[in-house]
Amino acid sequence: MKTSRQVPNPVIDTARCTGCGWCVPTCHLHLLSLERQGWEKFSVLSNADACTGCTKCAVRCPFGAITMQPSPD
Ligand code: SF4
Ligand code: SF4
Repeated sequence: MKTSRQVPNPVIDTARCTGCGWCVPTCHLHLLSLERQGWEKFSVLSNADACTGCTKCAVRCPFGAITMQPSPD
């Protein structure tokens, strides 16, 4: 049975993300990691269903690359 989730998920704007990695250790559930795409690295959310929507990663990002948006359901 699929349960409805109300928590927002972080969405990473790759145009703003510098690949600095600061958001990665802020997630206590280890849901964020850096992934290489060509010559660049971006933060990627690996398991959106596990995200609690705590916003720590979004607050931590010094480049405003992470915004919290309603999870698709
Ligand atoms: S802290 Fe921001 S700029 Fe740095 S890797 Fe994470 S999303 Fe990208
Ligand atoms: S909102 Fe919280 S739980 Fe979700 S990815 Fe960011 S730090 Fe992790």
